[in-house]
Amino acid sequence: MKDLIIAGSGPAGLSAAVYASNAMLDFVVIEKFPMSGGQMLNTYEINNYLGFELVDGFTLGQTFRAHAEKSGAQFVNDEITSIEKIDGGYRVICGKGECEAKTVIYALGANPRKLGAKGEKDFAGRGVSYCATCDGNFFRGRPTAVIGGGDVALEDALYLANICSEVYLIHRRDEFRGAKYLQDKVLKNEKIKILYSTQVEEIRGENKVESLLLDNGDELKVDGVFVAVGIEANTALAEGICELENGFVKAGESGETTAEGFFAAGDVRTKRLRQISTSVGDGANAVHSVEEFLNKQQ
Ligand code: NAP
Repeated sequence: MKDLIIAGSGPAGLSAAVYASNAMLDFVVIEKFPMSGGQMLNTYEINNYLGFELVDGFTLGQTFRAHAEKSGAQFVNDEITSIEKIDGGYRVICGKGECEAKTVIYALGANPRKLGAKGEKDFAGRGVSYCATCDGNFFRGRPTAVIGGGDVALEDALYLANICSEVYLIHRRDEFRGAKYLQDKVLKNEKIKILYSTQVEEIRGENKVESLLLDNGDELKVDGVFVAVGIEANTALAEGICELENGFVKAGESGETTAEGFFAAGDVRTKRLRQISTSVGDGANAVHSVEEFLNKQQ
């Protein structure tokens, strides 16, 4: 039985891996894809991670990954299908094998939330996207819309403004939620047309997206729509093990959950500010808690 299994290799999981190496724990990182820090990989410009004035998410992710590998972390590429409480620890069952450890750091992050509008499912991959940096290029020189008012929506609108003929930024309120400096950039960008206090009722088209029906009755002609209405934490595998709260794993700064030896780190846990920097801090805190827990067991 290992000391620790780190589930997930986003910023929280990779930071935990570096700290676990330094703590000389016997551990493994299980990841679905190498560097599966979903949201970070989809961010084209990061200007608030200390030491990197301006960097894209992929480059920063690879830098994190290389650091964790150099520190001696072992990675297993496999999809976790379930986690079970066993005597003295946890069994993590994956598609290709399984692994047991005294503790788990659960750092599986989050995925984009669906809008729930009519037509969204039908046109997924045919004009509806959840990742501007992945799919933006398909809409070069064409009109697109971004739905949402948080950091991701603002970033997506700015990214698409470099590529598309025009970008409608559709937000349900009259005030954005995202960072002020992003708001400032969006407001100054002539290609971005903001539709405040507006909701999308239906995504329409024949075989692909052709227009959006808005709640004021207008029909907006667009070829692509980027949904950026928040995140859904990947809590499914923690259900039944520890308590969840409002769709997140209930855990404070220490990462301690309601289950002994089961710690949560990064966007998956209840917290105020979801940033790369706070996820990196979470990884460090969770390993500290793991060490304390293991010391008490001896
Ligand atoms: P978010 O901050 O939760 O914002 C979601 C936005 O979508 C809000 O403006 C919300 O409107 C809107 N929304 C939610 N449900 C909706 C619906 N059904 N219809 C229409 N609009 C809807 O989510 P996010 O932008 O995806 O960001 C996720 C987390 O990652 C945040 O904590 C964010 O700070 C963080 N992040 C940080 C950075 C960075 O530091 N550079 C970059 C990306 C993401 P309301 O405002 O009315 O609620």
